[in-house]
Amino acid sequence: MLSEVAEAGQADVDAAVAAARRAYDKTWSKMSGEGRAKYIFRIARLIQERSRELAVLETLDNGKPIRESRDVDLPLVAAHFFYPAGWADKLEFAGYGPDPKSLGVAAQVIPWNFPLLMLAWKVAPALACGNTVVLKPAETTPLTALAFADICQQAGLPPGVVNIITGAGETGRMLVEHPDVDKVAFTGSTEVGKAIQRAVAGTKKKLTLELGGKAANIVFDDAPIDQAIEGIVNGIYFNQGHVCCAGSRLLLQESVADEALASLKRRLTTLRLGDPLDKNTDIGAINSSMQLTKIEELTASGEAEGAERWSPTCAIPDKGFWFPPTVFTNVTQAHRIAREEIFGPVLSVLTFRTPEEAVAKANNTPFGLSAGIWTEKGSRILWMASQMRAGIVWANTFNRFDPTSPFGGFKESGFGREGGVQGLGAYLNVEDPS
Ligand code: NAD
Ligand code: MN
Repeated sequence: MLSEVAEAGQADVDAAVAAARRAYDKTWSKMSGEGRAKYIFRIARLIQERSRELAVLETLDNGKPIRESRDVDLPLVAAHFFYPAGWADKLEFAGYGPDPKSLGVAAQVIPWNFPLLMLAWKVAPALACGNTVVLKPAETTPLTALAFADICQQAGLPPGVVNIITGAGETGRMLVEHPDVDKVAFTGSTEVGKAIQRAVAGTKKKLTLELGGKAANIVFDDAPIDQAIEGIVNGIYFNQGHVCCAGSRLLLQESVADEALASLKRRLTTLRLGDPLDKNTDIGAINSSMQLTKIEELTASGEAEGAERWSPTCAIPDKGFWFPPTVFTNVTQAHRIAREEIFGPVLSVLTFRTPEEAVAKANNTPFGLSAGIWTEKGSRILWMASQMRAGIVWANTFNRFDPTSPFGGFKESGFGREGGVQGLGAYLNVEDPS
């Protein structure tokens, strides 16, 4: 066991919301943008200074490889504080009118796949825009959020501006349903997102939802195959596939399908699965026994429905929750593994003949978060991107994140944008720009 964490009840939730309200009324809403920026920049620098400690803690808590928490999560966390900090004193130039106003108290509930990064995506723009926050991390990964509370103290942030409460779904429900909350921001499952939308309906609370995905990663026959293979691997095996925008459906053009699959399988045999704290590890641990059960259940359905399963031979540690990188071929669009979010290191491969067929298959999903296109042809990239019903479209790359670029979904992947100028609108008293 790593740590014991308290479960916040109604009285704790009330106290946190009251503290956020007091800080909003007395301090934060009265402070100038320059004043807020000073604190947010200070937090960003402290994150950089403490990035080693935070990366190790994230890996211990979440199970992701240290190479990823050190080289991807932590640099992005800092970047996602620096970028909104720069906007705090320039909001009148953000395109929301001459004097855009904050909303008040933001209730924020985040998942376990990128614990500190999801905190950054939520807390930084809220503070930059002049709101105070109560944030609840996921029950399996609360530790870096608690370390972040320490950073806020170290930065001298006025009391009550950031409040972290721990607990599971019931605590989250109490928080988003609290009557003194002005804004709700949620990232997690579509099922819980829908429940939150119902709970918030008819109130004045502004809502953004970032839910699941089932992205198509589409490889055309003129694509640079070696680069595409790296992109496919990064697209679905990064963070054990616990990624909402993961490229979980690989669409291969028929004429290159055999060649691409053979290279992909060769590449997968080189991945190392094991100790997340070992810097040579590529595939870490599955976050929880619950998530492992979900992955096992869905992959079993893949075989039962007639798809063909393949994994490289790799040693699985005795202790802990592990799942080998897995590829399914002979997948049809009707299979559950082609429709449902697995949220694990499992790739479902389909083929297509024409660009039109690729578009139809890529969009044949209730989700619409992201898509990837691999082709040498610029005109095809532009045409495909315009056809994708997805919030983020990558061309000849995948899973590339940038704080200046808005992130968010279509359809059951949710609504509202995080990041970029668009993401500021989610924390201002203005019409949603997306
Ligand atoms: P979840 O949606 O249940 O949990 C996400 C967060 O919401 C956690 O902090 C949780 O405590 C909280 N929560 C749960 N019920 C709540 C409620 N009624 N009101 C308010 N907050 C509530 O997700 P999960 O159960 O951890 O994972 C299930 C599946 O969801 C995964 O297999 C995956 O498919 C998907 N998922 C998607 C994302 C994403 O980034 N989009 C993240 C995590 C999970
Ligand atoms: Mn759940």
